Amino acid sequence: MATTIKVKDLNLYYGSMQALKNINLDIEKNAVTALIGPSGCGKSTFLRTLDRMNDLIENVKITGEVIYEGKNIYKDYDIMELRKKIGMVFQKPNPFPMSIYDNIAYGPRIHGIRNKSVLDGIVEKSLKEAALWDEIKDRLKESAYGLSGGQQQRLCISRTLAVAPEILLMDEPTSALDPISTLKVEELMDSLKKEYTVVIVTHNMQQAGRISDNTVFFLSGEIVENGKTEDIFYRPMDKRTEDYITGRFG
Ligand code: ADP
Ligand code: MG
Repeated sequence: MATTIKVKDLNLYYGSMQALKNINLDIEKNAVTALIGPSGCGKSTFLRTLDRMNDLIENVKITGEVIYEGKNIYKDYDIMELRKKIGMVFQKPNPFPMSIYDNIAYGPRIHGIRNKSVLDGIVEKSLKEAALWDEIKDRLKESAYGLSGGQQQRLCISRTLAVAPEILLMDEPTSALDPISTLKVEELMDSLKKEYTVVIVTHNMQQAGRISDNTVFFLSGEIVENGKTEDIFYRPMDKRTEDYITGRFG
């Protein structure tokens, strides 16, 4: 397996509360990795350590290493460079208060791209990758707020793809969506992993089973078990994984 991110002995504390305990994990390149586990077990916290989003929270202390392309993201990366390579999609769609086009052109413009035809190309490619182009290609100048919730979330995925990241982090990206929009976002995953590495938090077990190659099971800030999704689901080694998968708690 080709590893893209290597997490070594990672601990995270909110004040005196330890939210992540000695996490060691290799994340596979060009695959979908699902993070599962009951509410409060540290999934979002862990996801945020991968692009340093926890840096914004007060009183957070982090020890250990997150190695990406041979470099420690806490020591050897400029935050702008890191955010360009590792993009995040949040639980609730959060389009900016501007046109559909400008939402997607926003990141590339920040990174210095001004040429109209280059931006047009990026907007089209990103919308196609998020399976949204056909639905909205005639509405690019309209406000993003006019889109449905499911379309807004795919717009946010497009916006993240527009800066050509290598890794896409998603924190329960379908939890605010209706079933049809959820299906559309799930269908995206398979095509996205050809070009990107996806790490997705989901509390929906069926979703993890449908879309992921690898699954990581968290409990109380620890990784109980991780591996190929089919092994975690059908041949778990740890009793706690089995109990969770079969719905006995969580
Ligand atoms: P999950 O995403 O699995 O539901 P979280 O990562 O959000 O879990 O939370 C893990 C633990 O850390 C929980 O006990 C939660 O209350 C705590 N926590 C999360 N965010 C913060 C924060 N900003 N400040 C203090 N505690 C937090
Ligand atoms: Mg969460």
